[in-house]
Amino acid sequence: MTTINKIYVNGEFVTPHGTQVLDLISPVTNQKTGEVRIGDEVDTQNAVAAAKEAFKSFSKTTRKERIAYLEKLQSVITRRANDLTDIMVEEYGGTFQFSSMVSQNMLKDIQAMIDTLKDFDFERTTGTSKVFLQPVGVVGIIIPWNMSNGFIVTKLSTAIAAGCTVVVKPSEMSVQQTQVMAECFHEAGLPKGVINFVNGLGDVVGAEITRNPDISKIAFTGSTAVGKIIAKGAVDSMKRVTLELGGKSPSIILDDANLQETIPTAILAAYLNSGQACAAGTRLLVPEGKLEEVNAIAKAVVQNHIKVGNPKDTDTVVGPMVSKKQFDRVENYIKIGTEEGATILTGGVGKPEGLENGNFVKATIFTNVKNSMRIAQEEIFGPVLVIIPYKDEEDAIAIANDTTYGLHAYVFSADKERAYRVAGRLDAGRICINGLSHDSETPFGGFKQSGIGREYGVFGLEEYLEPKAILG
Ligand code: NAD
Repeated sequence: MTTINKIYVNGEFVTPHGTQVLDLISPVTNQKTGEVRIGDEVDTQNAVAAAKEAFKSFSKTTRKERIAYLEKLQSVITRRANDLTDIMVEEYGGTFQFSSMVSQNMLKDIQAMIDTLKDFDFERTTGTSKVFLQPVGVVGIIIPWNMSNGFIVTKLSTAIAAGCTVVVKPSEMSVQQTQVMAECFHEAGLPKGVINFVNGLGDVVGAEITRNPDISKIAFTGSTAVGKIIAKGAVDSMKRVTLELGGKSPSIILDDANLQETIPTAILAAYLNSGQACAAGTRLLVPEGKLEEVNAIAKAVVQNHIKVGNPKDTDTVVGPMVSKKQFDRVENYIKIGTEEGATILTGGVGKPEGLENGNFVKATIFTNVKNSMRIAQEEIFGPVLVIIPYKDEEDAIAIANDTTYGLHAYVFSADKERAYRVAGRLDAGRICINGLSHDSETPFGGFKQSGIGREYGVFGLEEYLEPKAILG
């Protein structure tokens, strides 16, 4: 049994003031694996006070000192990359394939922030005046369960680069992953109070972060619904906010694309992180004249190459949903799709054979879907792909943009210039051409209800800085 009974405040692992204890449940077996004692408002206030005190000196550190901290962090995380992967598989049910990629991306993300910091202009001249970019203050970081440590690393390395101090509230379903990550930050030897982790509930610890006047900015990743609550609360003390929210990303297969090559990739984009990914390409837009061909290829790919199973197995593509609640939500959407008149091509409700104990959902594809259906408009956050036929390129673009979201998109074509032209007309923060890729220096964030602001590289770093102009 695992017991987590400490939070990390002011450079120490301390017993929280909060006394509430939650069970830790394995998503593979639904058995209890341990307990966590979570923090409360008082713990949050203590963490904010520590971060406020640390800000006085940390905000004045030099570029060289901050780079040294980031390099130390990188070396600790390099050494503990396997632990970080294993705990993600264990606690969250992230597949080994995905979790090990996340661990490697963390290292790339830190390196990219070091490179960004090396060349970043903290002092600029505009007109005849000077503009100084100074750290925004104490940052409250609130994150979801689906790639917890990846988000922590991206946000915290940016905060460190900017000279900000932070209080992190991870998801209550990521406390074991957070424990390993907090150990990494502790070992990296940052001055006490710079980084603080408070496990706790959204409406307790998250709400205190949202209202606490000593926090200057909130960096949030999570659902659009909670993002709206935070933005509304943050405005009372005029906090800056970066919101990385939900998505319903289109994958457009243009009519010149090789279907045998592109459909398997588009399916991997849909089932990214077992479908529990904000950037998952969950709407597959295909030429209507090729629908039958696409259906046949997609069905064969899922049935022959997409293994749903134990996340520890290196060939598993889809692991369990993080919780019973998430499992029920995804199953409910599969029922809704059937009721709306969409056709199930593969998968459907019910657990896959032999996986009855865990939160496993069948890898599911609906075809003949209309973009107005709920399964095409709402974020399901599970391994459910919808195939939507389009008439021509204009129609494909219109359908792709007909969503309240705008986080990500994918375009597949034999003609790269054409794909770029189509990408230029999509309302999405990031668009991948002919594949899935990540670039740690390139902005990530959403149009429309997928969020406000950007992360990574220069664009991300500027979000943690406040410009001050001095004239005359
Ligand atoms: P969630 O919005 O339910 O929770 C996210 C975090 O907010 C958790 O730590 C939660 O405890 C906290 N929270 C909940 N209520 C709060 C409140 N009233 N005040 C302050 N904090 C509160 O999201 P989730 O279910 O943990 O994660 C899945 C969602 O996250 C999906 O919608 C997904 O698209 C989104 N997401 C977005 C990105 C991105 O970069 N755009 C990345 C990953 C996940």
